[in-house]
Amino acid sequence: MSELIPRVALNSGTEIPQLGIGVFLVDPATTQANVEQALELGYRHIDTATGYHNETEVGKAIKASGLARDELFITTKFSNVDHRTGDVKGAFNRSLEMLDSDYVDLYLIHWPMPKLGKFVQTWLEFEEFYRAGQAKAIGVSNFMIENLEQLAANATVTPAVNQVELHPLFQQRELRAYLAKVGIKVEAWGPLGQGRFKLDEIPTLTTVAQAHGKTPAQVILRWHIQEGTVIFPKANSLEHQKANLDIFDFELSEAELTAIRALDTGHRLAADPAEVN
Ligand code: NAD
Repeated sequence: MSELIPRVALNSGTEIPQLGIGVFLVDPATTQANVEQALELGYRHIDTATGYHNETEVGKAIKASGLARDELFITTKFSNVDHRTGDVKGAFNRSLEMLDSDYVDLYLIHWPMPKLGKFVQTWLEFEEFYRAGQAKAIGVSNFMIENLEQLAANATVTPAVNQVELHPLFQQRELRAYLAKVGIKVEAWGPLGQGRFKLDEIPTLTTVAQAHGKTPAQVILRWHIQEGTVIFPKANSLEHQKANLDIFDFELSEAELTAIRALDTGHRLAADPAEVN
C-alpha cells in the first residue's frame, strides 16, 4: 500500500509521503496501538507534536513495528509552552528522546505567536538542527504571509513546509499562491474539517462521492491530493484508517475539482494564528 502514496519533494532535498496520519488529541493511552495499526496498513508518515503529549507512544509504535527508521517520515512540533520559555535546544532534544530517535524528518514551529515576537530567533536555532542533520527538514505551521516575509528577511534556510488549516470550506488560496511562489510546500491540518462540519450534508461532496462509489471524506482527501497538498487525517478506527488510504484508485475530473473549489467560504473554522500567543 505504501508504494501507492505519492511522495512530494521538499526544498531540503528530502521527500515526504503525501498522505500520512495525524495524532492530535489521540489519547496517549491509545496512541501506540493507533500508530502501530496505521503502520501495519501501510502508512509511513506520522504527524505529532510536543503539545499532543504522545511523542513517547509514537516512538514506541515505531520500535514495535520493526520498520527501519529510514522507511518512516516523522514530524514533530516545537510547542507554544517551549516557545514562551525560549528553550529551543532543550525542547528539541526532549522530542528526540521521547521519539527514541536521533533525528526527525521534519521539525515545525507550531504557531508563530506574533505578539511574543520570538519566532525569528527560534528559527535561527532550527537552522542549526538542520545543518547538524538532526532535523532532515525544518518548517513552520500556522504562519501568515507577513510572518513568512519577516522570516525570509532574517533567515538563511527557507521553511520546507507551512502546515495550516485547510479544507474545502477554508482553502487559503492567497497563502497557497504565495507558498508556491517561494517554494514552500503546503500541509493541511484539519483536512476533513476536524468534524466541525457534516461531510454528508454538502451536496457537492455527496454527488461527487456517489459518482465514484466513494465517501465524502475520501473525495475531500482525493481533492487535497490532486491539489498537491500534503495531508495526514486523524483516524482512530480501523475503518477510517483503511478508508483514508483507499483514495488512489480514482481521479476527480477538472469539473469536480472546480465544484469543490467553489465551496470555499474564506472563513476559518478553528483558531486564528494572529490570536494564538
Ligand atoms: P481532521 O480533519 O483530520 O479530522 C479528524 C476527524 O475526522 C476525526 O473526528 C475522525 O474521526 C474523522 N474522520 C477521519 N477519517 C474519516 C473518514 N474516512 N470518514 C469520516 N470521518 C473521518 O482533523 P485533525 O485531526 O485536527 O487534523 C489532522 C492532523 O493535523 C492532526 O491529527 C494533527 O496531526 C494535525 N493538526 C495540526 C495543527 C497545527 O496547528 N499545526 C492543528 C490541528 C491538527
